[in-house]
Amino acid sequence: MLDRYLRQKAVPEIGIKGQEALRGASVLMVGCGGLASPALAYLAGAGVGRIGLVDGDRVEITNLHRQILFRENQTGKTKVEAACESLTSLNPEVRLEPHPVYLSLQNAETLACSYDLLIDGTDQYEAKTLLNRLGLSLSKPVVFAGVTALDAQIFVGDGRKESPCYQCVYPHPPSSGIRNCEEAGVVGPMVGLAGSIQALQVIKILCGIKVPGNSLLCIDGRTLEFRNARIQKNNECPACGANLTKEATADPFVVSLPEVVADPGRFVLFDVREESETREEQIPGARLLPFSVLTGDADPLKCLKTLDLPKSATPVFFCKSGIRAQKAAHMLNACQDHGVRYLPNPLHEVRSRC
Ligand SMILES: [Zn+2]
Repeated sequence: MLDRYLRQKAVPEIGIKGQEALRGASVLMVGCGGLASPALAYLAGAGVGRIGLVDGDRVEITNLHRQILFRENQTGKTKVEAACESLTSLNPEVRLEPHPVYLSLQNAETLACSYDLLIDGTDQYEAKTLLNRLGLSLSKPVVFAGVTALDAQIFVGDGRKESPCYQCVYPHPPSSGIRNCEEAGVVGPMVGLAGSIQALQVIKILCGIKVPGNSLLCIDGRTLEFRNARIQKNNECPACGANLTKEATADPFVVSLPEVVADPGRFVLFDVREESETREEQIPGARLLPFSVLTGDADPLKCLKTLDLPKSATPVFFCKSGIRAQKAAHMLNACQDHGVRYLPNPLHEVRSRC
């Protein structure tokens, strides 16, 4: 029988050694839609040994114009199940691991830790920043892509502390967050193009071919102009900036001061110091939620619910040193995925920025 990888192995930069590297590699695709369709097909086709698929969504008829892994008779199936059917028929040699869930703070590390590389196939800023922090804390490369209407961007975070990360490029969600396909519309071939470039970057990384970790590729689908923007590490970056401690960088519940200040509509500040401590000094706009009240309640989530926050608001805790804020955020996030964040900064830093 002819070797299915014959043409690929004929590429001098890949060869037999590169093919072996692909076979021994594992990647995790987060989000299995338009970007993942070409990316997964090329990666399975190329013989990447183990591929994990993460997506809690099901195939819908409105997906089919761009999510080319799926067929009309698969509507209603989970995307990971439908994708596995398609990829198995393409290359049965690849080990596929379906995870029919959405990536969350709770499951991210468990899902990602056994894979060599992470691929972003999502269209939500929150998911992208979670992947970014995950890549940084596990020192794994993450290949990002974003597409809106006729524009695409591809960025590779190499997971090294000295390199720029995704949030060095996009420190904050653009006004009301990265617009997703539903809001901005999307043309099928644009996600096809971006997903194909993601697959190429992944293959290069796995085969040891150099991929610069400091450039953002921007594609204009109108003019077909490809532009590489040089990215510098950003000291104010909310994920890897110099103003964060090492522990804080790895903590997914941390939010940075610049991030909070830039988006007051999204973040609601809660002072978790005791009432007696706040008499002398209060932070403008912050609401009081003493640590003793939060931890004294049998159901701390109830405390949050009584505050009647808008659904889109993210509570952010701070205190005198950051320690109680950290404990409170971890406790509430452990109750359920509540999206609570905290500022690791001491009070004087919070005061100087708010
Ligand atoms: Zn960064």
